[in-house]
Amino acid sequence: MAFSERIDRLKSSLIREILAAAQRPEVMSFAGGLPAEPMLPKVDWAQMPTSMGQYGMSEGEPMLRELIAAQARELGIQCEGSQVLIVSGSQQTLDLASKLFIDPGTEVLVEAPTYLAALQAFQLFGAHCLEVPQEADGPELGVLRQRLEQHKPAFAYLIPTFQNPSAVRYSEAKREAVAALLDEFGVTLIEDEPYRELVFDQGSATPIVSRLRSASWIYTGTVSKTLLPGLRVGYLIASPDLFPYLLRLKQSADLHTNRIGQWQALQWLGSQRYNEHLAELRDFYRLRRDAMQAALVEYFSDLATWETPQGGLFFWLALRQPLDTRTLLKPALEQDVVFMPGEPFFSEPDRHPGYLRLNFSHVAPERLGEGLRRLAGVIRDALAV
Ligand code: PMP
Repeated sequence: MAFSERIDRLKSSLIREILAAAQRPEVMSFAGGLPAEPMLPKVDWAQMPTSMGQYGMSEGEPMLRELIAAQARELGIQCEGSQVLIVSGSQQTLDLASKLFIDPGTEVLVEAPTYLAALQAFQLFGAHCLEVPQEADGPELGVLRQRLEQHKPAFAYLIPTFQNPSAVRYSEAKREAVAALLDEFGVTLIEDEPYRELVFDQGSATPIVSRLRSASWIYTGTVSKTLLPGLRVGYLIASPDLFPYLLRLKQSADLHTNRIGQWQALQWLGSQRYNEHLAELRDFYRLRRDAMQAALVEYFSDLATWETPQGGLFFWLALRQPLDTRTLLKPALEQDVVFMPGEPFFSEPDRHPGYLRLNFSHVAPERLGEGLRRLAGVIRDALAV
């Protein structure tokens, strides 16, 4: 069969395979980034105008675009509704940006670790991903500068607020420094922020795109983590030089994002009941985060180190002894536990053994301790400690 050259670069997502294996109800899954089922808001379809079933505009629903622009301006992002494109989840932003920037061999900058489905999207188009190591307060600036001096990346893809998978939130100082470096070298920023609103502890910091003076940018967000991932509604906001290209790419991809989901998102975003829902969500997840922290202290203290996440959905564990965590999946599943190995979050997986990502939003607190006890046992067996 004569497929495109690209198809050889298409790796199946490990996480999708794990989630498929974890369908059995007795399995305790720390693998996905799924919202807690009891916290999915009940949506009301009865009021939806029939016209929402008609074709719509590629840009998205005008009122939703205006609302998103207004909220972005509150975060300090200078933009108009005309710069907002409603997309089929922020994953589509990554696909459209890949189509805009990447030819085989194009260099792009990514954090190490970074979101595995972003790597998958970039690599499908043949990107060569340059890693910048992540520290507790953001990227290692010396390495970032070095990469920018020695390469000409098409863009930097960053997740500065409660990163997936590391949960890192960039400090103010690093946000400033990153913006200054991207301006200095004229490198486009793609800033991905699905977790900004899932904050449990202190307040939030301004997006990096709002600090840029001259570099081009794309800022992307989603309703997946705070409302309903099944709606498949996300958005991108782009600097005016990029927007027309992204719009045409959107047209050629799927004409427009589903209007039914957009209508539903519009009923919620910015409303009083959305703010109440967010407050409940934060309280609910904070409790689950605390439950996982307590269980980790009990079962993992001698096995791994970690920072307590102040937002987002994940703990990122570094094992005290390196081990290819992919080899733990099968024995863990035999114990009815699944987790996400760390390797796929790096563009060079084999160079970074010994990390695990654990989602804390999905498993109920009363089962969580048992799940982590079993997982620790699997790791101890593998390390023979
Ligand atoms: N970016 C990051 C960093 C994510 O964690 C996710 C979801 N796991 C996405 C993008 C995609 O989200 P969406 O459901 O909006 O496509």
